[in-house]
Amino acid sequence: MRPRSEESHRILVVDDNPSIHRDFHRILTHSTSGLDALDAMESRLFGEQAPEPRTTAAPCFELDFASAGEEGVQCVRDAVSAGRPYALAFVDVRMPPGLDGVETTLRMWRESSDLQVVLCSAYSDYSWDELVRKLETSERLLILRKPFDTIEVRQMAHALCEKWELLRASQQRMQGLSRAVEERTRALAEANTRLLHAQKLEALGRMSAGLAHEVNNPLSFILSNLRHVVRGLESVPWTPESEELREDLREASRDALRGAERIARIVQDVRVFARVDEPPRERVDVCEVLESAVHMAAEVLGPQPRVVRAFQAVPPVLASEHGLSQVFINLLVNAAHALRGRAQPLLRLGVSRRADGRVAVEVEDNGCGIAPENLGRLFEPFFTTKPAGMGTGLGLSICHGIVTRLGGDISVESTLGQGTTFRVMLPAASQEG
Ligand code: ADP
Repeated sequence: MRPRSEESHRILVVDDNPSIHRDFHRILTHSTSGLDALDAMESRLFGEQAPEPRTTAAPCFELDFASAGEEGVQCVRDAVSAGRPYALAFVDVRMPPGLDGVETTLRMWRESSDLQVVLCSAYSDYSWDELVRKLETSERLLILRKPFDTIEVRQMAHALCEKWELLRASQQRMQGLSRAVEERTRALAEANTRLLHAQKLEALGRMSAGLAHEVNNPLSFILSNLRHVVRGLESVPWTPESEELREDLREASRDALRGAERIARIVQDVRVFARVDEPPRERVDVCEVLESAVHMAAEVLGPQPRVVRAFQAVPPVLASEHGLSQVFINLLVNAAHALRGRAQPLLRLGVSRRADGRVAVEVEDNGCGIAPENLGRLFEPFFTTKPAGMGTGLGLSICHGIVTRLGGDISVESTLGQGTTFRVMLPAASQEG
């Protein structure tokens, strides 16, 4: 079977002679299609029974006519921009005084590179070699000598339109294939980036876990000795002369203790980041955990922010209470920092059940907000905008780690100068669980 498109093919005739237009019209819109003529010829030649004539409800070709080269080029341009390009153009070689057929063809190809062209010539205006040299291609070009042979014109029209159709189909397939290749390449590159990132995090985790382990032992005896020194300084009898020294030592040892306790908290964070401590999971009520996190962060939050709660009844989630509490405390502490110095600090806590069954927890503040260029980096370990000694940049990466390990995700929306919302989405625990 010859592949035929649903729509009739568009053909353009460019010739300065109106009687040639009429000839083409008669030949190409005749009710018997060229294929039927071919079939009839085939059966005559090979003695087979002729098939039933094809009934062509609509003519196979839709014809347009141009009387000069420039007009032809414009028709091709319009057809392309209308999304209905011509398949074929019959172009007269001689069309004085305007563009000749060769120039017209070159310009039409600039508009529509697939266009098949039949150059019609009564004279040997150009030799084939000359034509090929001028047009730089012979694949889309045929020559038709005048006067025309009706059958030859029909055959050419059918064959070239079919060729155009096949060419377009194969181009579309090629485009589809190269799109698929591009998509696959992009997906692979993304997967590779994720893998590299995961490997980096894993290496970082291993190093941090080792470091935390090594720091932990000396730190625990530093802490216990410092506590011992602080207590000792209280109980030693002091003379009024040494009172100044006593105050000095007391302050120094308390500072040292505060510093050591901070190191202990960082080490604890690093251990969570490195997943050294992975507590067991249970069914927990996020509202309760969030409420107790607010209680624990009370000191950092201070009396200032107005806290608004919008808690819906939600199903329990499967998590470790300790891990989840750490997530909420980190978010609350960050919000508290962002709210510092705001005229009317507001903290909105939301718990809701989403249409997909997941539980959403939102911590929203009307604090300083986050610069757009930082939004993409917040969950990276050690990313901080806080001054040295104030932030480790581990808080959100820990939150991210804990939440994703629970099968959930954490996201952020923020407007600089207006506020920030962190949203934690967690899958609900199964009924039996
Ligand atoms: P840290 O608090 O130690 O800097 P985090 O990982 O918790 O580390 O946070 C990383 C950075 O994200 C912070 O330094 C801050 O710039 C930004 N950030 C986090 N939460 C908020 C918030 N609620 N408002 C504004 N900025 C925030």
